[in-house]
Amino acid sequence: MDLQLRVNERVVDRDFKYYIFDWDDNILMMPTRIHLEKLQPDGSWAPHAVSTALFAVIRRDTVNYRPPQNNWELAFREFRDRGECPAEAFLQDTRTAINAVLEGEVPPAPSFETFRRTLTEGRLFAIVTARGHASDTLRKGVQLFMEMVLTVAEREEMMANLRGYRYAYDGLHNFGSDDEEIDYYLSLNRYHAVTSPTFKEWMADGSPGGVVGSSEERKQFAIRDFVEHIVHILQRTGEPLRRPVSVGFSDDDPANVVAVEEYIRTTLSRHFPGVKFVVYDTSDPDTAKGRKIVVSGQLNLF
Ligand SMILES: [Mg+2]
Repeated sequence: MDLQLRVNERVVDRDFKYYIFDWDDNILMMPTRIHLEKLQPDGSWAPHAVSTALFAVIRRDTVNYRPPQNNWELAFREFRDRGECPAEAFLQDTRTAINAVLEGEVPPAPSFETFRRTLTEGRLFAIVTARGHASDTLRKGVQLFMEMVLTVAEREEMMANLRGYRYAYDGLHNFGSDDEEIDYYLSLNRYHAVTSPTFKEWMADGSPGGVVGSSEERKQFAIRDFVEHIVHILQRTGEPLRRPVSVGFSDDDPANVVAVEEYIRTTLSRHFPGVKFVVYDTSDPDTAKGRKIVVSGQLNLF
């Protein structure tokens, strides 16, 4: 083994804890706007752009708000990849949102610190968002977060952990460059933007009758994919799954939280009886890290 490089071999003693993060208002308060129309007192409709945080509150209010030309694609145009540099708008908004936190202009969103710790520890995670970007766009956003938010010490700790996992589970003694190891780590994680054309195609392929469903149902599909992904990785590494596996899910949209809680209770906990699921409702910005709900915790069945 290369002795100059720090390798944290103790990662093998760690618990199997993984996270699924919503992006907007959970990891970052993005400046991206949703373009709606709002009913005026005289009965006419006027353009009205709202933040994602406000949208989470008003999205069921179809009396007072509607998408332009009754077309949700127009309302969410800033949440899609566009033009010759498809990821650029997302990366620019991500940069702006991170800078606002680093410069102390706004407090970090509820799961900002958990995400930072997840990266530092080199743990597997998924981003599951109602945005419509390509997976690769979200992955670039994660990489930007890593570059901008992690301190030098945290980055070194992350590298030692990533090498530790490679050593313990892949039997690696000679490691790639930092960039190569980060690339490998990022490739193990999942990046699901559930309104993207590729996500819809992929879900249609994997669903009875090709149904892609509502935004909540798509998030459920993405969550299930991640849990299966984790279980496959643990099986591949020869881990007998004798230690508890826990999967945390955080989202600031109460409708998503309710839908996911229900989905875990009725479906996921049956398919994965050994997994402990924890849901973090981060809708209240005054509750640091959100309200924690343990949905299922039958730990000894693997
Ligand atoms: Mg959100």
